[in-house]
Amino acid sequence: MILARTAAELQVALATSRQRGARIGLVPTMGALHDGHLSLVRAARGACDTVVVSLFVNPAQFGRGEDLAEYPRDEAGDRATAEAAGVDILFAPTAAEMYPEGFDTWVDPGKIGTYLEGAARPGHFRGVATVCTKLFALVGPQLAYFGRKDAQQVAVVKQVVRDLALPVEIVACPTQRDADGLALSSRNIFLSAAERSTALALPRALEAGLLAHRSGRDAVRAAHEVLDAEPGLLVDYVAIADLDGLTLAAAALVGSTRLIDNVRLVEEA
Ligand code: AMP
Repeated sequence: MILARTAAELQVALATSRQRGARIGLVPTMGALHDGHLSLVRAARGACDTVVVSLFVNPAQFGRGEDLAEYPRDEAGDRATAEAAGVDILFAPTAAEMYPEGFDTWVDPGKIGTYLEGAARPGHFRGVATVCTKLFALVGPQLAYFGRKDAQQVAVVKQVVRDLALPVEIVACPTQRDADGLALSSRNIFLSAAERSTALALPRALEAGLLAHRSGRDAVRAAHEVLDAEPGLLVDYVAIADLDGLTLAAAALVGSTRLIDNVRLVEEA
């Protein structure tokens, strides 16, 4: 596995792949890699000749007062994990490499980025859309892999790719969960044992919502009932939205950790 820290190193690392017309797959991540990330790597590995994982805690997608400084970082661990997963190139730039002095162009995704996570985290999707656009430009992947765990992010990135005619296909992969149902997330390490069991109300609520929806009842209300019964969990939102398909999405604060999760209400093909 090649570790590239700069755009120039990345271009050198990609040169042979480009020369032989290899199919390049990109998996953008913020690191602290877990099996959710690795499911994207596996999908990329299965469909691409060259798999690039980016590891960048993107300051532009964190708001003031959010957990940018505390966000889990484990580059040494990520390098070993990525290598073992068969990643060809790990691109781990600094913030100064991605946003050098004078950087002043932003990709702002419009309506899709304004509600749910966009309302809770103003500017979040502008940061996401900008960094993804730049990563697409740097890597030039034919395919880029995203997790449905961040369903609105998938919808935002697909919108950007469509609107700006970016030459990349976005592949959305299913949410990976722990055996207890909690969606894997780098932020789960912040949860105490008690908070973790409280957090399980989130997947339970979404499951209740899905069952309600399937039997013609109100999915949002059914999910709310489960969440409202859980002391120690503060609901931010529960809503149905078209996030690359009809989706029941929820966000909640457990202790000081903000968790998001969702289920698709559309039948998968
Ligand atoms: P992050 O490092 O949290 O920015 O996530 C990087 C990519 O991994 C995003 O496309 C996420 O949606 C995806 N991802 C994170 N957690 C999961 C999960 N539990 N299942 C599937 N994909 C995930």
